[in-house]
Amino acid sequence: MAQIIDGKLIAAKVRSSVAEEVKQFKTKNGLAPKLTVVLVGDDPASQIYVRNKERACAEVGIASEVRRLPSTIGSKELLDIVRQLNSDPTVHGVLVQLPLPAGFDERAVLDGIDPKKDVDGLHPLNMGKLLKGDGSGFIPCTPQGIVELILSTGIEMAGKQAVVVGRSNIVGKPMAILLLQKNATVTICHSKTKNLGEVTKQADILVAAVGSPQIIRGEMIKSGALVVDVGTNRVGEKLVGDVDFDSAEERAGFITPVPGGVGPMTIAFLLKNTLKAARLLSS
Ligand code: NDP
Repeated sequence: MAQIIDGKLIAAKVRSSVAEEVKQFKTKNGLAPKLTVVLVGDDPASQIYVRNKERACAEVGIASEVRRLPSTIGSKELLDIVRQLNSDPTVHGVLVQLPLPAGFDERAVLDGIDPKKDVDGLHPLNMGKLLKGDGSGFIPCTPQGIVELILSTGIEMAGKQAVVVGRSNIVGKPMAILLLQKNATVTICHSKTKNLGEVTKQADILVAAVGSPQIIRGEMIKSGALVVDVGTNRVGEKLVGDVDFDSAEERAGFITPVPGGVGPMTIAFLLKNTLKAARLLSS
């Protein structure tokens, strides 16, 4: 039976250290770090994510504001708002909640965020810095949180076979780079990968970031592997991961639950990134 990695507990520790550092930042600079989230349209899941971000900011003393915009706004107007936020000295972190409704030029909008305020780490400059191993940039929150979860187990990443299923800019790709930086031997799988189960079965560390309910089943997992489930899929009233928890738990050595695994870590590292932005802009 796998040991459960308690993301809630680990995230609470990260948040409490951020809260302490926010206090010091306020004393030194006379103002709180501030995150502005831009939310376009009325996607119910995005509304929940944004509310959770606001709540987490308040808990650690970070100021936050949500700019709610109708989906009738155009890419150009959205970009204008992003530019205003870029030049507002009271705003340290800018996050455009994804996905944007259909029809928006997502790349143009994300590229328009000042890289110094890009707390989601999706600006090309920050992605380039990550690739080069330059720690001065912003790294997407979810993969950062996952590294922390892996570290919490005491499992050494160096020399291990790591398999990441999913190659999105926000999870899969940066996850693979971070594992590579930790000297794991990394394989990235995606929708065109053949014999997925044969590949995942090689993994000492398996990260599933697909968005497909329970696609990873127990028989696809190496005995004793560390399994990280990023997926958050709504199936009826239930939130389920990309991993079939019951069969996976039988084989894995460590496993993250959904909910209560990766999700809280993503938010905790958003707070960390916002503090980093505030420091960068105030130095
Ligand atoms: P994307 O849809 O952007 O990417 C999904 C990836 O999975 C793609 O690379 C896709 O391949 C790959 N994929 C799709 N089907 C298969 C398949 N059958 N076999 C192998 N690979 C496949 O999703 P995200 O990366 O943004 O998110 C992934 C999941 O993680 C979602 O459930 C999302 O809600 C969740 N999530 C959770 C977070 C949290 O904090 N808990 C944070 C961010 C995301 P291809 O590139 O070929 O299309």
